[in-house]
Amino acid sequence: MKRIYLDHAATTPVDPRVVEAMTPYFSQKYGNASSLHEWGREAREAIERARKEIAKRMKVFPEEIYFTSGGTESDNAIIKGIAWANKDKGKHIITSKIEHHAVLNPCEWLEKQGFEVTYLPVDEYGVVDLDALQDAIKKDTILISVMAANNEIGTIQPLKEISEIARDKGVYFHSDAVQAYGKIPVDYTSLDAASVSSHKIYGPKGVGLMYVKQGTKIEVFMHGGGHERGRRSGTENVPGIVGLAKATELAFDHMKENAEHEEKLRKKLVEEVLGIPNSWLNGHPEKRLPGNAHFGFDFIEGESLLLLLDQKGIAASTGSACSTGDLRPSHVLLALGLPHEKCHGSLRLTIGRENTMQEIEYTAEAVREAVEKLRAISPYGK
Ligand code: PLP
Repeated sequence: MKRIYLDHAATTPVDPRVVEAMTPYFSQKYGNASSLHEWGREAREAIERARKEIAKRMKVFPEEIYFTSGGTESDNAIIKGIAWANKDKGKHIITSKIEHHAVLNPCEWLEKQGFEVTYLPVDEYGVVDLDALQDAIKKDTILISVMAANNEIGTIQPLKEISEIARDKGVYFHSDAVQAYGKIPVDYTSLDAASVSSHKIYGPKGVGLMYVKQGTKIEVFMHGGGHERGRRSGTENVPGIVGLAKATELAFDHMKENAEHEEKLRKKLVEEVLGIPNSWLNGHPEKRLPGNAHFGFDFIEGESLLLLLDQKGIAASTGSACSTGDLRPSHVLLALGLPHEKCHGSLRLTIGRENTMQEIEYTAEAVREAVEKLRAISPYGK
């Protein structure tokens, strides 16, 4: 059976060129980067080369990059680290209602430690309300954390405007850039901190980075042997870091053509799928990640739709793959103002650079058939 992968927001295959770059660092150049002998020096050089290549593409200083185990760790380390280091100045944090749980859950944990968190509303497309942000900032606000692009509905946030507000008020600004990194241009220098994950850009899982602008007051999250200039201890994942650098190079150096390809396929998919009666697109019509299409369908359950598509060899999702087994309506869709019943019939198809127009046409037809089949047996009508 033909298999079509359309779940690139959950994870991506590792690009063969990334595998090739990583391979020597498993069994040939396997030294510990802290060791003083040649094996160690080889590993250290690979890490520092990776740091430089990444910094060059993010247009930041290499010293501002710290390798981590991925997006979740970077979000936790930055949010808890900034909160802890600045608690004498204030204990108020601002984030949005549609953040990933890697941001929302650390914020909830901080609330239990005596911090106060404001969760900003978004409009019907998922864009953060800038007036609400202005109003929410208080004397004791120390951090604003707003994602660059949403993992479920793909909406891109106005980072430039938020960073101007944050700078004007002297508040740190962190952005979870996991879904945006390497896919759309982001001015990292306008941020004080950012989180990045490798497995969303055709790199390996279990590695990522945090960008922390020089001069940012942040407490250490992971204590130990003092790796990453004391900011993130733990023996460095050398193959992973080399893989992240290669994946970064491929994503940034071909960003425009990848985006054009994905957007072309997405537009076709949206056009075809919206031909199905009682269907709609969630997220912003234009300000969205090039490969993200997120649909809603009346009268059906998203999970049943997924199963039917899976039977046809198509990998899709109802939203966030990171909250597995959770059947509650998505917090992102609820924040858009959709009633509960409209949140259940959702389908996220996220396109990658290896997908073809033929695959998109096949998928659109499969979605139409699956929706018709489910509606025919739905007690709620058609
Ligand atoms: N933040 C966002 C927006 C994400 O989409 C994800 C993963 O889905 C994460 C954070 C977590 O990243 P990781 O899987 O590298 O821990």
